[in-house]
Amino acid sequence: MKHNNQVYNNALDLIGNTPLIKLNKITADFKGHYFAKVEAFNPGHSSKDRIALYIIEQAEKQGVLKPGDTIIETTSGNTGFSLAMVSIIKGYKCILAVSSKSSADKIDMLKTMGAQVYVCPAHVPADDPKSYYEVAKRLHKETPGSVYINQYFNALNIDAHYQSTGPEIWKQTNGKITHLVACSGTGGTISGTAKYLKEQNPDIKILGVDAYGSVLKKYHETREFDEKEIYPYRIEGLGKNLIPTATEFDVIDSFVKVTDAESALTAREIAKTEGLFVGYTSGAAMQAIKQLQEDDVFSENDLIVVIFPDHGSRYMSKVYSDKWMEEQGFLDEDVVKETKDIQF
Ligand code: PMP
Repeated sequence: MKHNNQVYNNALDLIGNTPLIKLNKITADFKGHYFAKVEAFNPGHSSKDRIALYIIEQAEKQGVLKPGDTIIETTSGNTGFSLAMVSIIKGYKCILAVSSKSSADKIDMLKTMGAQVYVCPAHVPADDPKSYYEVAKRLHKETPGSVYINQYFNALNIDAHYQSTGPEIWKQTNGKITHLVACSGTGGTISGTAKYLKEQNPDIKILGVDAYGSVLKKYHETREFDEKEIYPYRIEGLGKNLIPTATEFDVIDSFVKVTDAESALTAREIAKTEGLFVGYTSGAAMQAIKQLQEDDVFSENDLIVVIFPDHGSRYMSKVYSDKWMEEQGFLDEDVVKETKDIQF
């Protein structure tokens, strides 16, 4: 067991430098060597700690943020949690407009961290006055001394990962990484990390993960926004119904689409095989690896890094609830049988 005897000034000092953990069982029959960048080890339990701290500190440096000012954002939960955490430690107010698709636990957590939360309907167009984008914009206009983080359209989101996630992965793999597999929501994680890695070695392949119901994959292939690609889906934080400028499509080699059901089952499988309790999109990223492996994309000597963006505890009422899984029709017969067979 590794011990860390260091003492920290506050939780912010623990952001970043997350571990790269070898995957052993779930990839046992696959070609290549697999490692997960487990972002749940951040103090706010997700990769979004990185952008929250980075963007707020850039605003401080530019003199835009003064003590007592307000941070405003739209968020599926993780960015909100990280912003609320950084705001509390640094002495800012935090207002969050969140999608009604977000889990109840996530919304409760944001409130616990001192944020003021506005829950907005998920399935309205982005330009609808009730959408979380429009609500955040309005709140920003109405609140003097406020900063709108705007993660989908903020280049600093990419920079945060260019400065931290990319260099960490390069160092942790001694420059031997051949493939990066990462989910794309705002696109900040994949774009910033990819930009850094491709500067070190342009041969590294960057494989993005998108959801069925999202426009990203089609846009990457055609550079056209195809509304027909858009329909409701369950995975939170993955894919999008618009094209974020925080995604640099040119540094991504290709996208893989994954389903709600397979991603959820794979998230559960990661817990059962690797003992890593990770979120829904970690299941999505691992599911993408399974599909890529089936398509024979990887070779024996490849070193594949997959980003696991957040922690499983945020999905207790969803992916990790048998009831929810059954209601969605996601539990395959064997899993349902296994659960029902247990008698107390
Ligand atoms: N997974 C989860 C759980 C997320 O909340 C997000 C952010 N929306 C992502 C993946 C995707 O990360 P990014 O926004 O950097 O593309």
